[in-house]
Amino acid sequence: MKNVGNLTDQLPIGLEIKPGKLDRRFICRELDGKDLRFIYDSVYRKNHPMEWVARVLCLVLEEIAGERVYAQYRQLDYEKIPDIVKKITSADASYILVAGHAFTFGEKLDEVTDKCSNCGRKIVVSMDLSKLSVTRNIEDKFGFTVKLTKPVGFKTDEKDMFSIKGRLFDTLDFRYPLIGDTMNNEEYFKPNDRGDFDYRIMSDSLMVIFGTDAAPMSSEYLQFRRHSIWDSFSAMALKEVRRGFADIPSIEFAKECVCPQCSEDTLVGINPTQLFPRV
Ligand SMILES: [Zn+2]
Repeated sequence: MKNVGNLTDQLPIGLEIKPGKLDRRFICRELDGKDLRFIYDSVYRKNHPMEWVARVLCLVLEEIAGERVYAQYRQLDYEKIPDIVKKITSADASYILVAGHAFTFGEKLDEVTDKCSNCGRKIVVSMDLSKLSVTRNIEDKFGFTVKLTKPVGFKTDEKDMFSIKGRLFDTLDFRYPLIGDTMNNEEYFKPNDRGDFDYRIMSDSLMVIFGTDAAPMSSEYLQFRRHSIWDSFSAMALKEVRRGFADIPSIEFAKECVCPQCSEDTLVGINPTQLFPRV
């Protein structure tokens, strides 16, 4: 893939091949009519929105981290997502989808539709994908740490089996969320209310919570509370966690555009479906 603007053949994060070693290489393939038939399968897309994204990745990727993707998917009769695709971070997946569009159709994306945040009217703009801003992971670290301004405590039963009582926690270590996580939580995904889905992805990516005494929370307790852990967080602490996720290196799936209706600046968002419109 030749480099155009901010789009290069290097992923913003990369795949964790072994701890502390990331592989950022990927090669796109050009889509054909058969691929588009898979992509336009609207029933599949509606019933399995996350697996659909994984499917598009399988079709768009010739190789990732030196491993063949499309060839494996074809061998699996286009039915099973190869394991390597589940290990792609969600952030990199966005980047690959944009690169995939650029590789097949060119870097211009026509007819991006959104609502103007200012006047509320529907707007249609075209975008240069190679100018979308990209942030990159400069270290080979596969995750991030959130340090809370105010520590949080957890309620426990009388027996306090996990030594939680009286302790306060303020440091959370996350790994980057993966396509596999989004597929596992697909049943919680609602297009217009991402709350539950996002919280589940956040829980599944949580590796360790450290106390203010620097000792980790018992992994049994973390496992036990996994999907209800955020209930014990203050709204402010939760906001700090969410900011950590918002700061994950990636391509920005939105661009500031001038609204043709009211002439004010508005942020126009892209979604994966818009990247692969009917031809
Ligand atoms: Zn407007």
